[in-house]
Amino acid sequence: MPRASSTLRPFTGRVHHGYCLSSWLGEDADMTEFIGSLLEARAEEKFDLHEQHLNGQLVRVLRTIGFDRHYKRGAGAYLYDDAGQQYLDLLSGFGTFALGRNHPKVNAALREVLDSELPNLAQLDVSVLAGLLAEALTKTWPGDSRVKAFFANSGTEAVEGGLKLARYATGRDKVVCLKGGYHGLTLGSLSVTSDEMFQKGFGQLLPGITMVQMNDLSALEEALRGKDVAAFIIEPIQGKGVHIPEDNYLAEAARLCSRYGTVFIADEVQTGLGRTGKMWAMEHWGVEPDMLLTAKALSGGHAPVGAIMAKAPIMDAVFDRMDRAVVHGSTFGKNDMAMAAGLATLRVLEEEKLIENAANVGEQIMAEMRPFIDKYEFMKDVRGKGLMIAVEFGPPKSLKLKASWKMLEAANKSLFSQMILIPLFERHRILAQVAGAGMHVIKLLPPLVVNESDKDWIVKAFDEVVADTHKVPGSIWSLGASLAKHAVAPSKKPRQSFAAE
Ligand code: PMP
Repeated sequence: MPRASSTLRPFTGRVHHGYCLSSWLGEDADMTEFIGSLLEARAEEKFDLHEQHLNGQLVRVLRTIGFDRHYKRGAGAYLYDDAGQQYLDLLSGFGTFALGRNHPKVNAALREVLDSELPNLAQLDVSVLAGLLAEALTKTWPGDSRVKAFFANSGTEAVEGGLKLARYATGRDKVVCLKGGYHGLTLGSLSVTSDEMFQKGFGQLLPGITMVQMNDLSALEEALRGKDVAAFIIEPIQGKGVHIPEDNYLAEAARLCSRYGTVFIADEVQTGLGRTGKMWAMEHWGVEPDMLLTAKALSGGHAPVGAIMAKAPIMDAVFDRMDRAVVHGSTFGKNDMAMAAGLATLRVLEEEKLIENAANVGEQIMAEMRPFIDKYEFMKDVRGKGLMIAVEFGPPKSLKLKASWKMLEAANKSLFSQMILIPLFERHRILAQVAGAGMHVIKLLPPLVVNESDKDWIVKAFDEVVADTHKVPGSIWSLGASLAKHAVAPSKKPRQSFAAE
């Protein structure tokens, strides 16, 4: 396609009110090719643009670990760079691309919405698509209770809403959550996210939060006994580190919540919609929560979305009178793009049997990787459910390898996993992530569409990369040494202050 890119040039001036931006946004470009022209003319500048106009630290990280690629296209489980190289995406946009990237049926639904000129977000009206998605979503509820839905725009917003609804419905304000849990980064959800790195320096968070250890039912009962706790919020499988509760934990926790009048909230933002081989992870234990939160995969990755499903009495307690009809809400919640994408996503999950595929392929990946625990000294565990998988590393037995392990540990506890991640990416073109700061865990969150040959790709790549850790000296340990050298020492500088002296 010819692009009218001649007038697209980097912006060098300063924009004041009233100035026309079109000179650098392509004044001559045909609007049907507006975005294509911009990308063609300026894609190469993406890292510089981010360094100059956004948070440049991510660019530094990407450059340091060699992840600074120029992806051109995404399709299914794969990303393609400007050299036409194919990457297997085991991050899937932190779990949003459960259907794979650019699923044709979701894309078609979205095009249809745009082409239909729907009366989106009339606000003093109700939307058909939101009604239909709520109807479809609530049919998947893991239990017998009557539930209602509420739509938001992200996972953290679903958490914020969930906590508010629970507080209102119970008339209490305390919240109990789990150590090691992650629920988002806005102030309310951050208060129940147990990670000092995320919390530190952001000032006072919500009062009345108690964090208990997963599987410790006595600690939970102790926290709930005063009958002053609005909500107990958990991830059925913790995303940071992929920690799975003991078999009776969630059922007993639900029983305790019911006894002490606390709303049991299952945050399935990451585990939901088939990720773990069931529609909802709570189904693995047959436990019905009082409220369930979802987001990420619900829109097929295209439109921001979040949703709360709650037992009807909770929702009815909050929205109990006409003058309270808008007591909780959000301008873009229920927007047509997200709702249409959600409907298409639910249909594709079922039609393409992606939940069954997640269960099968996930089990095969884990079965084929477990023998590595005996084969390789650093490999300690392969665990997970469906396509939410953790590969955990730990100290070796032999003296020969111990010194190398200790060198990395002394520098930073995430470095060993980082040292595995980099060759997985560079040599095998597998995109994955370290599962949380200070952990020796690599997490795999593949799209649910991965197949047998993707499974072989993953297993072979891990086999080869982890085998290299036995070679000292060797290229992987040279990489380790260089990572250790670059490891960022905690800043001794006082925090820069924005406030005027
Ligand atoms: N809850 C859980 C369990 C999550 O995994 C996440 C995102 N990783 C969130 C909440 C926050 O979602 P978002 O990033 O969409 O705000």
